Amino acid sequence: MFSHRSSIDSALRSFKIDGHMLCYNSFVPRLYNWCLSMGFSPGRIMPSRAFCSDESQGFPIILIAKHFGAFPFNHGRVGGIVSVDRHGPHADHGKDLVLLQASHVGYDPVSGEFGVYRRLFTDQAHSSCSCGKIGRILAWYKTEYAYARENIRLLRHEGRLAVLIDYQLIASPRAQGLFLLFENLVRDVEGGLPRPLSTRSTGHIFLAAEALIERLGEAEWPQSGSVPIGDNLAADDFYFQHKGGYLDPLQDQLESNLIAPMPWILTSKHPLLTAACANTLAEFDRTYRSIVQDASMRDRNLLFLAGLNIDISPQPGEDFPLTKFVPWAAYLQRADGGREILEQDELLERLSAESSSNPAQINLEQSIEAMSNKREVAVRI
Ligand SMILES: [Zn+2]
Repeated sequence: MFSHRSSIDSALRSFKIDGHMLCYNSFVPRLYNWCLSMGFSPGRIMPSRAFCSDESQGFPIILIAKHFGAFPFNHGRVGGIVSVDRHGPHADHGKDLVLLQASHVGYDPVSGEFGVYRRLFTDQAHSSCSCGKIGRILAWYKTEYAYARENIRLLRHEGRLAVLIDYQLIASPRAQGLFLLFENLVRDVEGGLPRPLSTRSTGHIFLAAEALIERLGEAEWPQSGSVPIGDNLAADDFYFQHKGGYLDPLQDQLESNLIAPMPWILTSKHPLLTAACANTLAEFDRTYRSIVQDASMRDRNLLFLAGLNIDISPQPGEDFPLTKFVPWAAYLQRADGGREILEQDELLERLSAESSSNPAQINLEQSIEAMSNKREVAVRI
């Protein structure tokens, strides 16, 4: 998905959010009605979800159970990773199949901030990072990025526009860290850094690249002393390498989905939102490929849909978040062999065209009541 650096920015921009959200209350019945309109059999559909393990994802799961009449199969891992080795068991549990993948991001409706979620059940009902798993992965990269922003400095050397680059960012070879695309910052880079103009105790001074001067404008260089490059260090100027070293390959999957787009994630307005979108882009592509190759999924009515859950923090007195869903893409496969991929706008249009009323939805309270009134069944050992 993100194998070509030059296309990452445009891939991330293609994920539209504004004007593309559906409330879960209307999204799930629309999804159910869409399945019926495509010939899926009512009462024979096994829904499945690949959501993060966060408790904020519970409300969407309850709505899926209510509208599909079946508790969804668990196809997901923390962070919104699809367990692609679970297609077989999912396929075994229903005639027609629905798989919904969503990465998620918290949202504070008061401050308008993305990446936070109010934990109503904590002592002080404090807000914390959401998605916390993605946040923990981002932390190491944020530190590296903050160091580079501060330790690449703009200065004049003997009247010429120059950059001072910290040794840590030049050191080679390095197993991990933030790596600069020197040609964007330094003049006369040909296969390697040129001879420095001068050397300081913690870094080398080089002539600034023409492209950098053009991008920033000469006024960014102070007349005396030096200033950090800060926000002027653009996503195009660097990349990362990191040794994750997780024992669980599915934990590695989340980080490997995020490492290539990481410079764009960190330089975006809402890093946790951008990271969740990047993960959904990567997971749709990876999961689609795994489904079409999986024998257990063949010749089935199947709908795989990926998107983003925006968890609007609950206010005191509210039991659940007001979760919104932003669809990204869908893969539709029919038992007769028909196949179709729906891109974001088309997918939203398809869902919006369906009714949000579902007379077949179950009354969960009544269902639970009915089960508790059943005659006890003895388990014989
Ligand atoms: Zn999460």
